[in-house]
Amino acid sequence: MWGKRGEEGRLASQGVGFDTMLDRLKESLAKMPEHRSGKNWIYELKDAGLAAFSVFFMQSPSFLAYQRDMQRRKGHNNAASLFGVERIPSDGQIRNLLDPVDPTQLGEVFWGIYAHLKAAGHLADYTGVGHTRLISLDGTQHFSSQKVHCDHCRVTVREAETYYSHPVLLAVLCGAGQPQVVCLEPEFITPQDGHDKQDCEQQALKRWVKRHARHFAPWEVTVLADDLHAHQPICELLRAQRMHFILTCKVESHATLYEELELLTRVEGAVLTHRVRQWNGRFHEEWRYQWAQQLPLRGDAKTLHLNWCALTVTRTDTGQRLYHNAWITDLALDETSVVAVARDGRSRWKVENEGINVLKNQGYAFEHNYGHGQQHLAPLLLTLLLLAFLFHTALALSCARYQALRAELATRRTFFNDLRALTRYLYFPSWQQLLTFMHQQLEIAP
Ligand SMILES: [Zn+2]
Repeated sequence: MWGKRGEEGRLASQGVGFDTMLDRLKESLAKMPEHRSGKNWIYELKDAGLAAFSVFFMQSPSFLAYQRDMQRRKGHNNAASLFGVERIPSDGQIRNLLDPVDPTQLGEVFWGIYAHLKAAGHLADYTGVGHTRLISLDGTQHFSSQKVHCDHCRVTVREAETYYSHPVLLAVLCGAGQPQVVCLEPEFITPQDGHDKQDCEQQALKRWVKRHARHFAPWEVTVLADDLHAHQPICELLRAQRMHFILTCKVESHATLYEELELLTRVEGAVLTHRVRQWNGRFHEEWRYQWAQQLPLRGDAKTLHLNWCALTVTRTDTGQRLYHNAWITDLALDETSVVAVARDGRSRWKVENEGINVLKNQGYAFEHNYGHGQQHLAPLLLTLLLLAFLFHTALALSCARYQALRAELATRRTFFNDLRALTRYLYFPSWQQLLTFMHQQLEIAP
């Protein structure tokens, strides 16, 4: 108990600066087992990892080319000063050096930064129902091609065409009122997980839960996930790992549960309703919450019984249905908690909106092919990209100078355009000096 508090105090006192986070990444990269034989290599594995990371952090595919150029002309460069890349390898060398590296070895960086953010109090608002931490787990794919592939690709055949892809389960911490999500360690879906999308994602989710439950106190977490996870083995695992859950529950995939619900609607007081009328600035909406306790998840004798709730939002003047969704949960439901459960269930879209879409559309080049490799390169690069995304969120949550700059430059695009241009032409001895320069030139009050 005291030991843990001491550790949290130490993390809190260190703050969550750029340099602290980068040190975490450097430490992890330095521990990577050397896969080359002999002693006469020029480039360090660590340099290859930091170089690839710098491209994602700066959101600039040309960053390294500019820094090699600056090194030739001026004898120093920003890849070294900002990111600690001692010698910048070529793109081909980066691919060759990183291909054998298993991305799970970088997992501890995510958890280190998470622990820092938590200890420093920056995650206080990342909570949901019952003050639990909301963790959304959702599958997507980060690579798709008909030509380029490796041994770890998932192969699908559609209409006689072969497609190669790398599916991944993304894990993010979200809060109902929070504009940003905090990226946690992802779980890669491998060909061994099976061919069926549902099966693969379920295997990956189980692995993630088993590997990472230890990072949380018992019942500290509420897991949010899609309908395809709303099945007994997953619910049992989450209960066994002492995690709550709110899982989307569609009619098509839960026949027994909805038959029982249909029967209960005829019993007085078995299905409860709570209505809230709200003005959205243009018209009135009716938010109708419905819930029922202890419904069977499946049709056999060993079924789990879980609580169910639904939210339907209707435009009152026209009767138009604006939103509908339903969930199963292990959490107790009443007139108050049902509102919180539906709110948190709805916030799962954040992974889609603020996680995956930010990665795809806002400069991270999530689907851009930086190289595929034969072993681990594709998932390793994605892991570095997700770390860059986490660094940006952590800075936005914890660094007042970063917040001030982002606010001054309004759009994300302007901020990164400026970073790219500045670091192409000017040399900055450190990240702090780069921020100071931008603050001074923009005349932002200290
Ligand atoms: Zn592949």
